[in-house]
Amino acid sequence: MTYVIAQPCVDIKDRACLTECPVDCIYEGVRTLYINPDECVDCHACEPVCPVEAIFQEDELPQHWEHYRTVDEEFFDGGSAQRCDPREASGDHPLVAALPPQQVRKTEISRFAVRKDEADDVDPWFPL
Ligand code: SF4
Ligand code: SF4
Repeated sequence: MTYVIAQPCVDIKDRACLTECPVDCIYEGVRTLYINPDECVDCHACEPVCPVEAIFQEDELPQHWEHYRTVDEEFFDGGSAQRCDPREASGDHPLVAALPPQQVRKTEISRFAVRKDEADDVDPWFPL
C-alpha cells in the first residue's frame, strides 16, 4: 500500500509533506511532488499536512484522479517512455507536464489551511 500525490499539488508544491516523511520517499518534479511507491511505508504522516488535500492512500484516490497512481509508478520505474530522473527534478511525468497552469492562489490555500486546522480543533462532544 502506498500514498499518492494527485493533481492539487501541481503548481503549488509548498513542500509541507517533505519534512513529515520519515523515509524521505517524496521527490520533487518541476511542477509537483511524487511519492515513490516502492519506498513509501504507508505511515500517513504526510496526508494531514497538505493544505490542498492532494495526498491520498492509493485505494482512496477519487475516481477522476486514479491515474495519478500510474503517474507515480511511471515517474520512478520507467513505465513511461519519457520518464524523468526524480533525483534531478529536471522534469515531470508527461501527463503533469501537459497540464495547463493551475489557478489556485496562495491566499486561497492559506484560507483552506486555516479551515482545516479549525476543523481538527472541533470537539465532537461540544460542537461549535
Ligand atoms: S505515507 Fe509516510 S512514508 Fe508514505 S509518503 Fe507519506 S510520509 Fe512518506
Ligand atoms: S503538502 Fe500537498 S501541496 Fe504541498 S508539496 Fe506536499 S502534496 Fe504538494
